[in-house]
Amino acid sequence: MKRDRNVKIVATLGPASSTYEMIRALHEAGADVFRLNMSHGSHEEISERHQIIRQVEKDLDSPIAILADLQGPKLRVGVFANGEEELEWGEPFRMDLDETPGDKKRVCLPHPEIFAALEPGAHLLVNDGKIRLRVEECGNDHANCTVVTGGTISNRKGVNVPDVVLPLAALSEKDRSDLEFVSALGVDWLALSFVQRAADVEEARALCGGRAAILSKIEKPAAVQAFEEILEASDGIMVARGDLGVELPVQNVPPIQKRLVRKCRAAAKPVIVATQMLESMIESPMPTRAEVSDVATAIYEGADAIMLSAESAAGDYPVEAVTTMDNVAREVESDSTYTEVLEASRTAKRTTVADGIVAATREIAETTDIKAICCFTSSGTTASLVARERPRVPIIAMTSSRGVARRLSLTWGTLCVMTGELERFKQAVVNAARAARKNELADENDQIVVTAGVPFNQPGTTNILRVAPCDERLIYRTDPE
Ligand code: ATP
Ligand code: MG
Ligand code: MG
Repeated sequence: MKRDRNVKIVATLGPASSTYEMIRALHEAGADVFRLNMSHGSHEEISERHQIIRQVEKDLDSPIAILADLQGPKLRVGVFANGEEELEWGEPFRMDLDETPGDKKRVCLPHPEIFAALEPGAHLLVNDGKIRLRVEECGNDHANCTVVTGGTISNRKGVNVPDVVLPLAALSEKDRSDLEFVSALGVDWLALSFVQRAADVEEARALCGGRAAILSKIEKPAAVQAFEEILEASDGIMVARGDLGVELPVQNVPPIQKRLVRKCRAAAKPVIVATQMLESMIESPMPTRAEVSDVATAIYEGADAIMLSAESAAGDYPVEAVTTMDNVAREVESDSTYTEVLEASRTAKRTTVADGIVAATREIAETTDIKAICCFTSSGTTASLVARERPRVPIIAMTSSRGVARRLSLTWGTLCVMTGELERFKQAVVNAARAARKNELADENDQIVVTAGVPFNQPGTTNILRVAPCDERLIYRTDPE
């Protein structure tokens, strides 16, 4: 769907956003990508939401990316008889292996390996570190703790143990079964949690077998260390600030975010900034000034996408949260500082014909009065290269592959349009001009730039740059076959 902004919005779906009406309203308000979190919700619920998204996509004729987020080796508490409990400072609280639903005094933590590794004095951090428990006494099947920082604890909240090194495999049994399930279902992106090395990504890629693109969540100190090789092995990145800010001192997160966003852009791979972007909107229709500022910062940095977690999955104001992001994005992107920052940080590294063509395309588009850059892309690579240039002119990615159009919904500034199989360049130019006019980016008197690779439908052949009129009669008169 055409948006008046470049940055993309990812909305997590959950109990607050599982009906057709709500998912459609979220897409219309601005959500370009929907995230299905495999940590919550059964396979049945996941496939139901998947089906609804595909229906919305069809009804609105607008490619939508679905991102399935694998839980990874994340420690989580079990469930509570009341769904949630309030933990208060100074009170005792016990974690154990008993699967009986929890209460104010205890809850299940179904991970014997943690109990084996815990020591008195260690801390258990719950729900992105919002609740802190200190271990007073522990054994092979329990830990008796004291609440150091209180708060609401609810079903399946995550637990971090930053003081202790835990022996955990990259993909659990659940992850393997979820991976197969969502790959067969047909999601576009697979997000891997707690990636620590490139080998973790390669393992998942082999299991996925090309059915989805692979996105690595950076939320471990080890992943920050090994970032170059993880980026190389991945198709995209998420700066997962929730766990990152628990595993590392919280003040380390902003500089890491800046560095990761810059490196992803240089590699022409999409990067999502995630977690707590509009956290207060879980319960309030208005964001805090600090949250608005955080969203704006990610956009100024040039992130491809910004994400909502509980705000859209379990909050009271999912549509308002998306609208807030959309409003902030449109305001930031119309500020001249935004353009200046993106231009000053443009990468100079160009080594291929395609790199040269996309750079020239941007140059021509910005020098003259060109209304859109239309790039024909069979694998999505050319469109990503154009997006890396962060041009001031809208990008239309034209592709005959629905999967590519969907995946590109995550990429900065690209409007994805489906074209039929094309054999002749003239037909491509006509289709590009039509797409620009249909989306009201140009009229008959305007010009666009078209890039393509001839012969068609062979990835990696980008070799044509054509400045074309939007008037079809002129195209037929002047263009070679
Ligand atoms: P992650 O570490 O993968 O981000 P999370 O538990 O923080 O996991 P998010 O998707 O980031 O999950 O946040 C959504 C919040 O909404 C959850 O913490 C949970 O309390 C709530 N929720 C409840 N049901 C669901 C669901 N089916 N999908 C997503 N979130 C849900
Ligand atoms: Mg996480
Ligand atoms: Mg989260």
